[in-house]
Amino acid sequence: MVYRNPVHPTALIIGSGFSGLGAAIAFQKEKIDYLILEKKNDVGGTWRDNTYPGCACDIPSHLYSYSFEQKSDWSKLWPPQAEIQQYLQDVAKKYRLHQKIRYGQEVEEARWDDQTLQWRVRTKNGQEYVSQYLISGAGALHIPSIPDFKGLGDFQGAKFHSAEWNHDVDLTGKRVAVIGTGASAIQIVPAIVDKVAELKLFQRTPAWVMPWSNWNVPSSVQWSFAHVPGLQYTFRELLFWGHELFIGYPMTKHPDLLKVAERLGRWNIRRSIDDPELRRKLTPKYSVGCKRILKGGKKPGANYYGALALPKSDVVVENIDRFTENGIITSDGVFHEVDVVVFATGFHVTDSYRYVKIFGQNHEDLGARFDAQGVAAHRGVMFADVPNLFMLMGPNSGLGHNSMVTMIESQIKFVVKAIKAVDQRGERALFPTWGAQNAYNDEVQEKLGHTVWSTGGCSSWYYDERGKNPVLWSGTVWRYVQAMRKLRLNEFILFGQSSKER
Ligand code: NAP
Repeated sequence: MVYRNPVHPTALIIGSGFSGLGAAIAFQKEKIDYLILEKKNDVGGTWRDNTYPGCACDIPSHLYSYSFEQKSDWSKLWPPQAEIQQYLQDVAKKYRLHQKIRYGQEVEEARWDDQTLQWRVRTKNGQEYVSQYLISGAGALHIPSIPDFKGLGDFQGAKFHSAEWNHDVDLTGKRVAVIGTGASAIQIVPAIVDKVAELKLFQRTPAWVMPWSNWNVPSSVQWSFAHVPGLQYTFRELLFWGHELFIGYPMTKHPDLLKVAERLGRWNIRRSIDDPELRRKLTPKYSVGCKRILKGGKKPGANYYGALALPKSDVVVENIDRFTENGIITSDGVFHEVDVVVFATGFHVTDSYRYVKIFGQNHEDLGARFDAQGVAAHRGVMFADVPNLFMLMGPNSGLGHNSMVTMIESQIKFVVKAIKAVDQRGERALFPTWGAQNAYNDEVQEKLGHTVWSTGGCSSWYYDERGKNPVLWSGTVWRYVQAMRKLRLNEFILFGQSSKER
């Protein structure tokens, strides 16, 4: 392919979701020249792509939003996807980010040039960009995973992934199969159950589901958030510390404390479902928190268990053997005739770290390094021997209990500190030392060994084939934010001044 004349900003940002937009706003403030490369034609990332019925964030938006851009009039504590997407569009508009976004530019490959000390970034449609810094805000949950079921191609009905919802398919009166019981399925099932003729939920592993109901935020409260100084900030802090103390701390430090949540989960099943066989199917055999804790309750048509208790619903626990042209055959030989199949089967998470082909110093292929050694980063954002690359929401910076936006903001502040450190010393680049990266990861992995994700007795996508968790942060968000507050220069190699030896 012939590439067009390169464009040269100081920093290139990949993606325009919470990470990319947040980085852009920080760079704007710091007068760091940047461009965002966005593969689609709008901002929003996850909140643009996931439009399935019932889609919402399971962390309250007063917390799951930028600390510097609080919105006082969220309609609900857990508002729907469209409202979060609108929030991100409003933020982009307010900070005039659109003029700095190149839409329809899907990054394919980024190569560090050892001679010029710059990134050469190529997009799928033949544009080249050259920059000193590269910031990936591509996220970890954006490559839909559809298992390679036998006979899948034979199925003649509509089929789509939860993150690629086909709104042209009317589910009214249809027999619908939903495969998966994760955070997406639990929102889809109650949102579609009223419409469909039959709902078959194909469950491999039941989820722990806590009692829950969503609250509308009254206009008087919205008004107070807007007009009473410090009120919304205090509410946000309460939400933050509530998630830290009641979920994050037990998950990461004292999994035994989660027994209380387990009792709550069992009670939620008992109060919602009368049929003992269905109760048995829906009761997990692993500790609460080992997989993402979900929320849902009793009310038919509005909540997960309520929807599953309806006569038109069926929870199928036998494994899927194969698809036919009009249905699914399970391992017990039973044929389930369906018109539509929804794959709520999650994402290729560890592959997302390889989403862009990255070549660091001496042309080293970062993906090949991950294949050989496993996925690992320094402080969740940088990689030894890969200069000036920052991966927001990178390895071991995911969460199971609190707002990712807080993690992202602390990473962005870290990126700015790193760029300033390079600049102030008259250098051109930095990367972490192997010693620092290995020591950091040894500590994170050691701590992860004591968390519920490791001791809880479940298998989850947090773990790779080596039995290592390269996805989650090992402690509370507060701990991460503290650790990221300072850039410890002894953990990095800075270089690039022409007169200096490397
Ligand atoms: P997920 O948590 O990975 O769940 C995928 C589901 O598909 C699991 O129940 C899994 O079963 C099942 N599955 C996968 N392969 C299967 C197979 N071959 N046969 C049968 N079942 C299969 O995916 P998700 O629900 O899309 O959620 C992913 C993440 O997105 C969440 O953890 C969360 O971080 C984020 N999310 C967040 C929200 C929110 O409100 N903030 C909403 C949606 C998603 P097993 O459990 O047995 O593996």
